[in-house]
Amino acid sequence: RAKRQGKNTVCFFNAGMDRAVRDRRTLENDLRRAVESDGIALAYQPVLSVETGQITSAEALARWTHPSRGAISPETFISLAEESGLIDRLGDQLLRRACTDARDWPSHVRVAVNLSPLQFVSGGLVGRIRSVLEEVGLEADRLQLEVTEGLMIRDVERTFGQLEQLRGLGMQVLIDDFGVGYSSLSYFQRFSFDKVKIDKSFVDTIATSHTSRAIVQSVVELGRKLGMGVVAEGVETEEQMRLLLECGCTHLQGYLFSRPIAADAIRHLLARDSGSADHTVDLATTGV
Ligand code: C2E
Ligand code: MG
Ligand code: MG
Ligand code: MG
Repeated sequence: RAKRQGKNTVCFFNAGMDRAVRDRRTLENDLRRAVESDGIALAYQPVLSVETGQITSAEALARWTHPSRGAISPETFISLAEESGLIDRLGDQLLRRACTDARDWPSHVRVAVNLSPLQFVSGGLVGRIRSVLEEVGLEADRLQLEVTEGLMIRDVERTFGQLEQLRGLGMQVLIDDFGVGYSSLSYFQRFSFDKVKIDKSFVDTIATSHTSRAIVQSVVELGRKLGMGVVAEGVETEEQMRLLLECGCTHLQGYLFSRPIAADAIRHLLARDSGSADHTVDLATTGV
């Protein structure tokens, strides 16, 4: 009897594993189909300059609405794309879309595109970005590339080499989610980032933690000395904004100013933001 029960348990366990594997495979197939039909969308979140109060860039953030499961988080489908070999194709597609959308924006506004570490592996990235810019007709200096620190643990020299080339072509390179993960200050010895994006976790706690505030201050100081702007991401409250301004952050981004919005909406917002010479977004007003 015990033997039989054991056997059943094993069968049940296997069935559970089978289902998990099947679910994953199904989602992967759905993602492949979505990529093939150009079905992954982009939302854009503005980034404001502290100095001028104006929007100086907008970050492109991938969005997938699954036909039956609804919205799937980018963390989930980007890592699925990375694991299933879809990331190069998806990355190219999103880059092309972001550049095409940005062509309609005022020329002082840049578009920021997030890159997966895996997009640096094949070796063809620099050439592909170049031809996208050429085909779309967007100047290289309108494009910002956001890379994470996780990037660096893969093949450091190869990756920095490609980033160097991209920067040489006129693109800005930003280090994203700075201060979490595999942070190493030695990256700054090997590569000149244009901007540092301080991870949201420090912004979240800046009003309650002296440590967070000290870290933000130090990153700003480092940025000043190395000629890098410092962007605070995930700013949600006026209190956080006040402290970040006090620390000397050069750029702010977060729900306090705007959530990520559709391409049409950002185009209208940008037209309004730069419509009159002296109109600027008031840093103290919520809900742009
Ligand atoms: P990230 O690049 O660090 O993007 C910032 C994330 O914080 C976005 O989440 C954004 O919607 C969210 N955020 C911004 N301001 C606030 C705020 O005030 N409060 C809160 N609670 N959240 C805020 P999202 O869009 O879910 O993206 C998550 C991550 O997925 C991104 O982090 C990025 O690592 C990755 N991702 C998104 N789109 C792409 C893409 O096109 N390519 C790649 N490779 N990764 C992407
Ligand atoms: Mg980012
Ligand atoms: Mg970030
Ligand atoms: Mg992040």
